[in-house]
Formats: sequence, structure tokens, C-alpha cells
Amino acid sequence: MNPILQQDLNEIKNILENVKLQSLDFLSAVDAIATSNKNTISTDRGLNDLGLGTLAALDEFNERLAPLMVSQTGPRYWGFVTGGATPASIVGDWLTTIYDQNTQGGVSALIELESINLLLQLLDLPKTFLGGFVTGATMSNFTCLAVARQWFGKQLGKDFAKDGLTEPVRVLAATPHSSSVKCLSMLGIGSQNFTKIKTIEGNREAIDIADLEKNIQSLNGNPFILISSAGTVNTADFDDFKAISKLKTKYNFWWHVDAAFGGFAVCSPKYKYLVDGWEASDSITIDCHKWLNVPYESAFYLVDEQHKNLQCETFQNSNAPYLGDPLENFSYLNFLPENSRRLKALPAWFSLVAYGKQGYQDIIENSVAMALLFDAFIVQNVHFELLAPTRLNNVCFALAGDQNQEKVYLFLAKLNDSGKVFMTPTMYMGRKGIRASFVNYRTAESDIDLVIQEMQEIIKTM
Ligand SMILES: *Cc1c(COP(=O)(O)O)cnc(C)c1O
Repeated sequence: MNPILQQDLNEIKNILENVKLQSLDFLSAVDAIATSNKNTISTDRGLNDLGLGTLAALDEFNERLAPLMVSQTGPRYWGFVTGGATPASIVGDWLTTIYDQNTQGGVSALIELESINLLLQLLDLPKTFLGGFVTGATMSNFTCLAVARQWFGKQLGKDFAKDGLTEPVRVLAATPHSSSVKCLSMLGIGSQNFTKIKTIEGNREAIDIADLEKNIQSLNGNPFILISSAGTVNTADFDDFKAISKLKTKYNFWWHVDAAFGGFAVCSPKYKYLVDGWEASDSITIDCHKWLNVPYESAFYLVDEQHKNLQCETFQNSNAPYLGDPLENFSYLNFLPENSRRLKALPAWFSLVAYGKQGYQDIIENSVAMALLFDAFIVQNVHFELLAPTRLNNVCFALAGDQNQEKVYLFLAKLNDSGKVFMTPTMYMGRKGIRASFVNYRTAESDIDLVIQEMQEIIKTM
């Protein structure tokens, strides 16, 4: 063995002890660490001939790279839709690395199958959904839409998985997430090739069911794929799933639900109604690294078991005979994009077992309560206005008045530069806006107060 590697192995206890202490330092300071910084590095470091050993590498990391880290996992990172990492999920993530399993089939897949089963219970969905873990909602959308594409081909008597796309694929959507549009591009369907359905009149992002049905009727019975939303990123709006499930009994289509974060609304009796009816869908996308509060990279797909063959046709490693019949010998590598994967499910497994249904109900309800507190400030303060009503956990707002539209992003830049909070710019209904998304389990009233104070200071300077 290389002597430096050997020395590291001999010293592993000391090394991990160091890393543990450093981790604890970071976690206990996460409230105080800035949510943005201007630190930078030159990225052309040469590769040394002789290794430094882990402890010296750690010293270098701490000197050069650690200062780049921002408090994304802390309570005031409200940009994008960014969750934190619960203690249990950190343990699961850590052990994933220690056990270093390649989760494909056999025993190594059992934990993943059990985790999906736990998630179905959390989300109150039937066991008729088969699921697996991927890196994020983008890959989950990709997985689901790839099976949808295969389904669409079959309706025309084609096998797109084998023959490639020989027909245009028909897709309908009202407010698809940018990642779904990217999936249409990756799947050869074409990012421009979807029919945009109207949203409900008024300040809504949800699909207009009447317009949807009108478009369906114009297809004269031809199949299509519907991408629907359980939680749009700007305003957390939800399509009417009861109405869509009624359409499903009348027309032939694949129904996909992008519920990346919004699916967790089901964890609270107060917000469960938002997803009523989604169980009739063909496929669902859910992120775990958002509202489940587990570390990146964690998401899963759910596909109705009746489509198992289509899923296998889409993803099977058909030219590897040693893998056996994919429908007989279950292996994840025949059901999703990646072959080799880490034990992605373990952080979610730990967090679900550690906090249970009540834990997640509390996280979801706290997030919404924090969003509403922030919403109340925006509503009552003359300098700001909401761009949309706060429906769940996302607050979409701007500086008040059209005359201040020019200053919205300037204000946001100043706010983000403060390092106390991070929010995302957006365009909503043709207006420049700011989006604050509440999904981190740590966020408390004191955080809202602190941000409100900072916003009031900054507005004075504008
Ligand atoms: C975040 C998000 C995605 C993309 O998820 P990644 O985890 O970033 O790949 C897709 N859809 C919705 C609704 C989202 O909120």
C-alpha cells in the first residue's frame, strides 16, 4: 500500500475525530455564518506528486475552501427552495459513505425499498406506486417523463426505447418547472414542443381545467402527456388534482405530477386538501433535499406499478446478460437512469424513523407559519407589496409600486450581500419580484424578525 494511504488508515480514528469536531463547530455556528460571501479562489491548483495525507489536506481545505462555504443549510437561506439537514439525516448520510454500498439489487436495495414504503406512508399514497431514489427532482422528472414517453410510443404501436423517437410526443402543461422543460429537451421531445395550457384567471399559476379540456378535445382521442404542478416555485400554486383525476377517467393520457416540494403539504391536515386526488396520477416527482430536510442529493420518483414493464423497457441494461431477467430479478439499474449509485435512501430512512409523521407535520406547519409571518410584514409595510397571495410556504413580493420596479433587484442584491438572508430574484406576471421560500426546519420567529430589521435598514438607503 502507498505509505501515505497506510498512515491515514492507521490514523483514521484521529482523523475522523478532527472532522467530527469541525462538523460540530460548523453546525453550532450555522445561525451566525453568512448566507453569502464574496470569497473566491484561483482554481488552477497543481496536483502534488506526493500526497499530503488527510490531515494536511484538511488544513488546506480549511484555509482555502472552507471560507467559501455559506450557511445554505442554516435558517435564513430562503433562496430557491433550500432545505436543511436534520441530525438524523446527517447520520444517514455519514453512514452511507462509511458502508459504501452500490444500491442496485438484492440486499443493498432493501433499505431503499423500505424507505420508499415509509415515504408512501408519510405521503398517504397507495403501495401501488413503485419508487426509487435519484439525485434531485430534475432526475426524478426525467425518470417519470422517460417512462411517459415510452407509454406514449406504445399508444401509437411504437417502441421509442428501442427505435428512438419516430413520432412527435404530445405534451400539455400550464406552469411546468424549468427542469421539466429541460427534461423534454434531454428526452428528445424538444423543450419547445409542449402545448401551453392557460392558468386560472386572476393571480394564479394553476392550470385552467376548462382550457385543458378544450385542448384535450381538440386532440380527438389522441394520447398525450400532462405535466401538472403540486407547488409552483414562485407562488406554491397547485393544480386541481380532483378535476384532473376526473379527466383521467374520460381521456387517454399519462398524468405526471411534479410535487418536488409541494407534495409535503399532505403531512398537515391543514394543507392536505391541496393534493387531494393526486393518487390517481401515473407518476410523481418528490425532492427529499428540500422539505424532507435531508442533505443533497436526494429525491425519488413514483411510478404506478401498472407501468412497470414500460419503465423496465426504458431503463433496462438489455445487453448485460449476467443481470438476468429484469422483471424477475429486481435491480434498480433496470428502472432508473444510473447504474452504480450510493445508498441514497439512507439519510431519508434515518430522518423518517427519527422524527416520524408528527415530526414532519411540525416541520411543514412551522415552515408555513414562518412564511405567513413574513407575508404579514410585507402586507403591512408601505415599502413592499405581495405579487401573489401566500398559499403555502413561498412568499413572492416586490418593492411597492411600478415606479420602484427598477430597484427591485438592486434591493435584493443589497439584502443578499448582507449575508444575513438569501432570497431569489424572479419574474412573476411580467414583474420583477423576489421569492422567499420556507423549507428549513431550523427557521424560527427570531429569524423572521432579524430579516425584517435588515430589510428596513436597507430600504432607508434606497
Ligand atoms: C426544485 C424543483 C425542481 C428541480 O429539483 P432539483 O432537486 O433542483 O433537481 C423541480 N420541480 C420543482 C417544482 C421544484 O421545486
